[in-house]
Amino acid sequence: MAQDFTRKQVESIERRYDFKTARSLGQNFVTDPSVTERIIEAAGAGPKDLVIEIGPGLGVITSKAAQRCGKLVAIEIDKKLLPILAETVGWQPNVKIINEDVLQADLEAIVAEEKTLPDGSQAESVRLIGNLPYYITTPILNKLMALPELFTSLTIMVQKEVAEKMMAEAGAKNYGVLSIHVQYFCEIEYIMDVPKEVFLPRPKVDSSVLTLHVRKERAVHAEDEALFFETVKAGFAQRRKTLSNSLAGVRGADKAKVLAALAGAGIDPQRRAETLSLAEFAEVANRLI
Ligand code: SAM
Repeated sequence: MAQDFTRKQVESIERRYDFKTARSLGQNFVTDPSVTERIIEAAGAGPKDLVIEIGPGLGVITSKAAQRCGKLVAIEIDKKLLPILAETVGWQPNVKIINEDVLQADLEAIVAEEKTLPDGSQAESVRLIGNLPYYITTPILNKLMALPELFTSLTIMVQKEVAEKMMAEAGAKNYGVLSIHVQYFCEIEYIMDVPKEVFLPRPKVDSSVLTLHVRKERAVHAEDEALFFETVKAGFAQRRKTLSNSLAGVRGADKAKVLAALAGAGIDPQRRAETLSLAEFAEVANRLI
């Protein structure tokens, strides 16, 4: 039977295995079954789906999620967790643990290899789930956003501040490259905040759970996707500069070309990057080609 992973149970597992959590690996385990339940609910995986989990830890989310989906493949870097996972989820035939660094893992190959469910059918959709290790949240998100077609949805727990950055809209202080990167590929559904007291050990900050629903079509039309992101990055690299200055140099564009692109897009060259919507960035980038 799947455990509930209450605080007492988590402490007891750690004691029995003499397991010491590694801060360096961002190990903060969820100890509230109602939070786990809501994360799994939000992931929305059913018996015909393959779920890829990043960082199963003790198996807190893994075990319960596997009861709902066709198959669950979890990628965990810490070898010391393997004997614990063997106890907590090893009895579930539709769970596979891959002992690897998620940043090194070939996610496309894993999905291709694991898409066949235990009943022999092919998974109808692939969903990602994970209470992400905080020290590599951004590289993980960059990796996932570079593979937008791989997943139907991504239900992730991240630091609250990072979640707010992802959701930020033009004009907000925390609006930036991350907001545009994620919003371009995904529609963001806010699920819940999770107070730091829920975790063992307790992190310094609160967390939030989001579901990123991968869009069938991108949020805006960028003729050259790479150029769109180069334009966004250049704009925010020098946040305090006006667009006419910060965008000079993108794909070799001189100031005159930037001014013409901004004028063509109907954007005042005195504006700054943080005021531009995704659509406006795309308008400018499409004119810098
Ligand atoms: N899912 C568990 C939970 O919610 O209680 C654990 C979440 S904990 C925040 C992050 C997990 O990611 C840890 O188990 C940690 O060992 C694992 N991890 C850290 N770095 C990783 C990496 N590069 N690749 C895969 N897993 C990693």
